[in-house]
Amino acid sequence: MAEAATPSRLRASAALDYPFTAPTSDGAVVEVAPGILWARMPMPMSLDHINVYLLREDDGWTLVDTGLNTERTRALWELIAAERLDGLPVKRLVCTHCHYDHAGQAAWISERFDVPLLMTYGEYFMLRGLMGPPPDPLPPSQMAFYRRAGMADARTEAIFDAFRRDPFMPPVPPAYQRLRGGDVLRIGARDWQVVIGEGHSPEHACLYNAADRILIAGDQLLPRISSNVLVSPVEPEANPLQLWLESLDRLDRLAPDTLVLPSHQSVFRGLHARVEELHAHHQQQFEVLRAELARRGPATAFELMQVQFPKLRHAVDEMMALGETIAHLSWLRHDGGVRRVLDDDGCHRFSLAS
Ligand SMILES: [Zn+2]
Repeated sequence: MAEAATPSRLRASAALDYPFTAPTSDGAVVEVAPGILWARMPMPMSLDHINVYLLREDDGWTLVDTGLNTERTRALWELIAAERLDGLPVKRLVCTHCHYDHAGQAAWISERFDVPLLMTYGEYFMLRGLMGPPPDPLPPSQMAFYRRAGMADARTEAIFDAFRRDPFMPPVPPAYQRLRGGDVLRIGARDWQVVIGEGHSPEHACLYNAADRILIAGDQLLPRISSNVLVSPVEPEANPLQLWLESLDRLDRLAPDTLVLPSHQSVFRGLHARVEELHAHHQQQFEVLRAELARRGPATAFELMQVQFPKLRHAVDEMMALGETIAHLSWLRHDGGVRRVLDDDGCHRFSLAS
């Protein structure tokens, strides 16, 4: 639940502009606009950092996102509080969404600095829902979801065993203040409008300042990787890619020279070009699936995943990739180009509709 992107998606864009050198993940900060600091928290995984942002006002600071639940992250927050905040206190914490790299220290920061945690309803309760290890054994409906997708039971068990050993599982933040889409947060001299994104997580909050054209984008707009969008057993008939693509279009309506502050990789300009690339990326993924179905005939999601994501490294990657393949298949089904049949062996098989 920590990673933003499914592996094997690295791509570089010539159309984006990166005006700053990124801070190192050791408590260093880079000022990206007056009163807005960019820092990084380390992550011991292939995506090796998360960006966090600090917004200054006259009497204190607002923190945006937290890093993983590790000793190292807590030590870096202590260092930042002691040395980077001009002697002013932390006033509030905003978490863009529920994933552990964004909200893993939400409970600790709100207690340590005695500040409110601001999140949307969907993200706060999804965070609470993600707390604790998956049940052992898994509920039959959950096993059945993966069986229908074509994954062997032993493999499903092995993946959930890995989840049960997740070392970054955070404690529950006991309370929050609700953010809603369209809310305006006044922080210092700037108004930040809450812009909701869906598909990567249920009610992801981006913050947009129209006057200076700055977007704190969370995982809704990353410059060189595409965010993970998956179908899970919690909502097996969902079509999250439709929500994701609509969310991209909402961001596409913001000013073209917007400075985008993403949660991973570097601060950039080129919002419209990046939205276009991400649309093109998903269209290409749809094409990969259509071509494979044309070539081999009916196939399970698990078989198609191996074509869509040929370079998976470990069990958790596989779970995210399978969910993302199902998300693309759900979009294609809703679009009418692909149909799904439940075969006698209990597997869903997908085929081209005509
Ligand atoms: Zn995320």
